[in-house]
Amino acid sequence: MTVAPDVTRPLVACDLDRTLIYSAAALGLGGPDAAAPPLVVAEVYQGVPISFLTRRAETLLAELAQIAVFVPTTTRTVAQYERVRLFQRPPAFAVTTNGAQIVVDGRPDGDWTVEIAARLTSACAPLADIADHLAKLDDPRWTLSRRVAEDVFCYLVVNRAELPATFVSDLAEWCEPLGWTVSLQGRKIYAVPRPLTKSAALAEVVRRSGATCMFGAGDSLLDADLLEAAQYGVRPAHGELADLGWQRDHVAVTSATGILAAEEILNHLLVACGR
Ligand SMILES: [Mg+2]
Repeated sequence: MTVAPDVTRPLVACDLDRTLIYSAAALGLGGPDAAAPPLVVAEVYQGVPISFLTRRAETLLAELAQIAVFVPTTTRTVAQYERVRLFQRPPAFAVTTNGAQIVVDGRPDGDWTVEIAARLTSACAPLADIADHLAKLDDPRWTLSRRVAEDVFCYLVVNRAELPATFVSDLAEWCEPLGWTVSLQGRKIYAVPRPLTKSAALAEVVRRSGATCMFGAGDSLLDADLLEAAQYGVRPAHGELADLGWQRDHVAVTSATGILAAEEILNHLLVACGR
């Protein structure tokens, strides 16, 4: 028997990139330009608009934020997250850096950073080992850049067309015994400590916010734990989880792909919250 969640104070944890907001390359719009949905700019980088959501999604998001604790939950660093402007004011809580940071009223929470550092020290190989390995794999044919995010994980920005077919699986195999996970999202290949999860940070946000249940949405392997932890979830029909055929009974899948999937995701979440 399934027990319906208590939705008196729901929390919605929503991934950003390719779940809610989309780069120009990820819009996935078919059909004539004149039939494209009106878009709203969600992110400006160096003076140029680079991420978007549909105007309809913006309206649905505003409605959702009225009835739920809406928590942007992203692998972006704090600086990358701060460029994403979805509301007039920063949300009460956001999870960034794949769970390494909890941003409270727009400010990173120092206590959580200390807690996470302690958890990682004992549970997996140090960042330097993984960063050194990525440096050795660096090849100008496919590596566009190599980055370390807030001293907790690292990632490559790659040219997918030139990337050897087994590069990601070989890296994942190498990282596995060291307690690290690999995720491919668009042009980025992330290597992330396995204990560094969105769901661990969300459990803390649930505790602090007094939420009675959690719903979630996400598209990548780094969202799988978030979706597992949620009482109800949605994933788009595109992305890393879709490519893996990832399914769970409590996780709906959109029919649309690309930026239009975000509208379906928000509608699912609104219904779950008792709209
Ligand atoms: Mg994503």
